Amino acid sequence: TQFSALGLAAPLLKALAAEGYDTPTPIQAQAIPRVLEGRDVVGAAQTGTGKTAAFSLPILQRLAATPKAPVPRTIRVLILAPTRELASQIEESIRAYGRFLKITSATAFGGVPIGRQRRALSGGLDILVATPGRLLDLVDGGDLKLGTVEVLVLDEADRMLDLGFIHALRRIASLVPAKRQSLFFSATMPKPIRELAARFLHDPVEVAV
Ligand code: AMP
Repeated sequence: TQFSALGLAAPLLKALAAEGYDTPTPIQAQAIPRVLEGRDVVGAAQTGTGKTAAFSLPILQRLAATPKAPVPRTIRVLILAPTRELASQIEESIRAYGRFLKITSATAFGGVPIGRQRRALSGGLDILVATPGRLLDLVDGGDLKLGTVEVLVLDEADRMLDLGFIHALRRIASLVPAKRQSLFFSATMPKPIRELAARFLHDPVEVAV
């Protein structure tokens, strides 16, 4: 399979060529067409499988196909990650894949001053990649409203549970619209993770590598 056969548009194909990717990984081949269709996806995938591109590429395509004027203190896509390192890596990948599109993105995580993150959100953004605690600080401070979120991604869900983010995740889930697309990735799928996935997802397609 080639990336073009998965339904990705020219600006994304050009960015992938610039990254030196020529063939989709198995999780990309399985997930990208389903995410483009608008389906919820639950993926069992470790780091290194190409899962970041598996969710980022179709999200970028969706945003580019339905451009919207930015609304202050709102976002269209919320990607939750367990650590600042992972959040930074995801946003870096999004910038690389989206380099030929007009997409705005930022990160929000704890351990650094909140002011810059506040300012990044003030005009509104397409994509925010955040850790759960700092995300809720921004919401509680009035810097961000989640009522316009179209796509919610949970990456490394098992690590988020290990780090004690369950209550934060439940609260975030209660603040985003019920009608949304949700994507859920975890390296392992024990029962507590399946229950969390069931709470977040609507009629999901399962992909595993
Ligand atoms: P991830 O599992 O998302 O952390 O990605 C693992 C690594 O594989 C990252 O360094 C990506 O840049 C790289 N990668 C992802 N997809 C592809 C692909 N289709 N071809 C070559 N490298 C890839």
